[in-house]
Amino acid sequence: MSVSYDFTGKVALITGSSSGIGADIAELFAKSGANVVVTGRNADRVAKVAKQCTDVSPKQLKALQVVGDVNNEQDLNRLIETTVQTFGKLDILVNNVGFAHMADVDTEDYFQIFQNVLYTNLNSVVYLTHKCVEHLAKTNGNIINISSIASKISSRGSSPYHISKAALDMFTKCMAAELGPKRIRVNSVNPGAVVTNFVINMGLPTEMVEKFNETIGTKYPVGRVGQSPDIANTVAYLASDTAAGFLTGSIVVADGGHLAANVSIDGEKQKLNKN
Ligand code: NDP
Repeated sequence: MSVSYDFTGKVALITGSSSGIGADIAELFAKSGANVVVTGRNADRVAKVAKQCTDVSPKQLKALQVVGDVNNEQDLNRLIETTVQTFGKLDILVNNVGFAHMADVDTEDYFQIFQNVLYTNLNSVVYLTHKCVEHLAKTNGNIINISSIASKISSRGSSPYHISKAALDMFTKCMAAELGPKRIRVNSVNPGAVVTNFVINMGLPTEMVEKFNETIGTKYPVGRVGQSPDIANTVAYLASDTAAGFLTGSIVVADGGHLAANVSIDGEKQKLNKN
């Protein structure tokens, strides 16, 4: 059974939508009738996802493509300006962009890595939110931040990522309180392990990534790791005023039971290292 949402007439901007979870969120909004903005640094990937969005859109609405880096303020300004110029408004902002870079605190370039992770995962979200409030206030829109279960647990070798997501959760809650009077809802989705380029790029052992379902998925109460549509469905639920109009400041964990079952990715890594 599939759930369907109606976002006809809505405009949704999803950062980091040229692959993985963001691409699936963009496609689901497009399929549900919204005008979507697809963005990322790689023009080919942005174009590919934008075409997929147009193809699944019931009225073949053309997705807006914006190529840019969220660490560049001018690119972020252009992202918002182009969105509002093209579609006339903004209803839904999904701050999805993010990456992890493994580094122990005594690694030589640790502080540079820390800053890079914080800039992409946190600063860009703060800046975009700051700039989008005026537009979202006009539409009584909403914001969904893609955080992680890493905001709630610690592990070795990945402190910049954990810190960025813990701070992001606090930002979500502060913004929910602050933007409520403007009738803007702000929530977060915190995924567990989901198979995307993220897990390949973050430096987990190849063997672990190749056998993600066996190494991690079988430890999850649902018996599998996540897929991008699992997260996209949760985002669509939160974005819907009909379904989730009473939710704001919620940190919605979508992790297949990872936290409940105390699954340790760290532990699995150590087991592989011993073999
Ligand atoms: P992907 O690596 O598949 O996607 C990341 C997206 O962000 C891509 O579209 C990438 O495009 C874009 N991006 C990365 N850096 C920048 C940048 N500096 N400027 C602009 N765009 C950028 O990862 P996921 O889909 O898995 O991750 C999405 C979110 O989900 C992240 O916030 C992540 O922390 C979170 N998450 C993921 C989990 C997982 O297991 N996959 C678990 C928990 C949370 P491009 O390279 O073209 O710029």
